[in-house]
Amino acid sequence: MTAARPQPPAAEPQPNAAPDGAVLTALLQAADQEVPAAVALRRELHASPELGGHETRTASRVAAALGEPDAPSVTTGRLARIGAAGGPSVAIRAELDALPLTEQTPVAWASRNGASHSCGHDVHLAALTVAGRAVRRVGGPLPLVAVLQPREESYPSGAQDMVGSPQLEAQDVRAVVGAHVHPYAARGQVSVGPGPVNAAHDEVTITVRGRGGHAAYPHVTRDPVLAAAHVILALQHLISRRTDPMHSAVLTIGTVQAGTAANVIPEQVVITGSLRTFDPADRASLWSAVSATAGATAEAYECAAQASFVRGEPVLNNDPALATAAAACLDRAGLRVVEPLRSCGSDDFAYYCTRYPSLMMFVGVGQPGTPDGPGLHHPAFLPPEETVGEVARAMLAGYVAACSVVLPDAAAQAHGDATDSMQIAPDGGGGPH
Ligand SMILES: [Zn+2]
Repeated sequence: MTAARPQPPAAEPQPNAAPDGAVLTALLQAADQEVPAAVALRRELHASPELGGHETRTASRVAAALGEPDAPSVTTGRLARIGAAGGPSVAIRAELDALPLTEQTPVAWASRNGASHSCGHDVHLAALTVAGRAVRRVGGPLPLVAVLQPREESYPSGAQDMVGSPQLEAQDVRAVVGAHVHPYAARGQVSVGPGPVNAAHDEVTITVRGRGGHAAYPHVTRDPVLAAAHVILALQHLISRRTDPMHSAVLTIGTVQAGTAANVIPEQVVITGSLRTFDPADRASLWSAVSATAGATAEAYECAAQASFVRGEPVLNNDPALATAAAACLDRAGLRVVEPLRSCGSDDFAYYCTRYPSLMMFVGVGQPGTPDGPGLHHPAFLPPEETVGEVARAMLAGYVAACSVVLPDAAAQAHGDATDSMQIAPDGGGGPH
């Protein structure tokens, strides 16, 4: 999964100034008390997942658990601000949606509705309630904006609803933190690599058209199945022969749809695939190479092929200053920072990176002795319950780190007035869980 490409230097843990450490310690202690209720919430969310674009019940439930039942909506998502109403803030994003998969786990709280939290979003949401409630209890250096984001798993992705929306703009967000469970790192480990950690992702559809007819008379047809087979083979050379070997890229053909009967040559074949790149120039040149190669190859079989693309997420670029600061805070939170995981996976968190300094952390949920266990998007994927607390610790470490990076800038901008933004919570918890 880790891409073979030049690796930016790993984030070196730096000793942090005492105030950050004291804040983080207080937040982590408060978080410990919130974990049992969050584990129960995780089970509840897991048992009744909602698909992308339909997450209103999940969003309401999590907003209520954060003590912000009236948090404003952004499409089917919500934005819950914890702390002072105005001024700079740090956002933590969690995804609301599940996958259209039939769950295959043995737990009593498994989903039975044909959708499944097989990407761990239930864990992220529960962890975010821990982080939000901890900030409400003990206060934090800056207000925390919980971004309950819809449609991470489908296009158009929900991050685009949030980024640039007037509701998010009104929050004066100065940094965005995300955490995703990851089975390729062990429990207790966190990857927090600076720079690019996930690829840009586009979907390609190629329609190969021929002339259909009887299977016994191929000579009077133009068989698009044969042409499509050669198109697929030819496309696989675009990465190995046309892309700089030092640049990571992948083209996977995921579906091929052709025909309705064994004895009929169909009129057309539709191929879909996934193109992932890190370099914008590779992205552009591969789009045109896919079109040209498909067209020319089909033409050799007297067929025609046309490619179209749906532009997906950009490259997910972690802000280096946030990554460095987070490494120190994660260490203090008892989590081990490991060699950065970089892959051709994609996540629409990348859209936040285009607008704000942002940081995606991969929180290990791998179990010793089960390297081939179910991975992300597998119907049997089920991070253990302890990971709710571990992801929450990572989120709080990322939040405190982001505050430490953001505050000097905010203070300079406010002419030294930023100390007013320190807020201590008036109550001990806030809202139902
Ligand atoms: Zn996910």
